[in-house]
Amino acid sequence: MRADPRDYQLVSPGTLEGVLSLLHREPGQWIPIAGGTDVMVLYSAGKLANKKLVNLWNVPELRQILCSADCIRIGAACSYTALRNHEVISGEFPLLAQAASWTGGIANQNRGTLGGNIANASPAADSLPALLVYDAELALVSARGERRLPYGNFHTGYKQTALAPDELILEISLPRLYSGYISHARKVGARRAQAIAKVCLAALARVADGTIQDIRLALGSVAPVPLRLTETERALAGKKIEPSLIESVRKMVAQEIRPIDDIRSTARYRSAVAGNLVAEFLEKLAEKRSHA
Ligand SMILES: Cc1cc2nc3c(=O)[nH]c(=O)nc-3n(C[C@H](O)[C@H](O)[C@H](O)COP(=O)(O)OP(=O)(O)OC[C@H]3O[C@@H](n4cnc5c(N)ncnc54)[C@H](O)[C@@H]3O)c2cc1C
Repeated sequence: MRADPRDYQLVSPGTLEGVLSLLHREPGQWIPIAGGTDVMVLYSAGKLANKKLVNLWNVPELRQILCSADCIRIGAACSYTALRNHEVISGEFPLLAQAASWTGGIANQNRGTLGGNIANASPAADSLPALLVYDAELALVSARGERRLPYGNFHTGYKQTALAPDELILEISLPRLYSGYISHARKVGARRAQAIAKVCLAALARVADGTIQDIRLALGSVAPVPLRLTETERALAGKKIEPSLIESVRKMVAQEIRPIDDIRSTARYRSAVAGNLVAEFLEKLAEKRSHA
């Protein structure tokens, strides 16, 4: 056995205040555990940085989904199953619902949480490109107070985040602005299910008379952090969707990403697939128009 449970301490205050005061008293000493689907992998491998764990699963503020006219606020410890089953998320934020549906298997979706996916900070995480294109904002909370941060500023480098040692992700809010957009999500992995992405795409666009009015593109597994393709978006905005544009987009994408070789894939393959996925989205937009 690489980790012996007798060496570990798990506490479950059951209130947000209780968790925060623990983190405040001993910053960096406690590992928050929500669904545990990442934490327990490290535990089993004997690789957890600390031996003190604090449970988030039974903190009500972290488990609720609240809707207002302008936005939806998702508690950080909401599971993928809760996201998939939520009417507003599946209706207005299909990229997030889709990402939730292909994260691991059903057992994983019942335990794994959106906040855990964000804090774990893997560039290959499935839900993160969707958060980029939907302009998600995070509420971070500690005993010192609450602050808000655009999700796009949260990942500061490979596996690095803006979270202070005494802070938690409280909630993720998404503005309700994109229901009229055409959306497209793709995950390319070794298998159709139960695979970490070699490349994944979340894409949104508004098109009128064959011209791109607004386009939002984000990729996973092509850089140290999930990446919004702002240069490519700028180059595409205002353009007519024509075969020459679709052909040239592959080059634009290749210039903007920074993929690497690793156990799952090669930089060359990732670069080719990333370009193809964006080109496929433009083809979908062109096709929608021809059927309109
Ligand atoms: C079999 C299996 C398959 C998987 N498949 C996929 C997949 O297809 N796609 C994918 O993206 N991921 C996958 N994962 C990874 C994992 O399920 C996700 O990253 C999940 O979202 C983690 O959520 P969690 O609640 O279980 O996190 P936990 O394991 O509880 O925590 C993960 C990290 O986040 C921190 N944390 C958790 N909540 C908070 C919070 N509110 N504030 C601050 N820090 C917090 C923890 O301290 C820890 O560092 C898989 C994992 C397994 C075991």
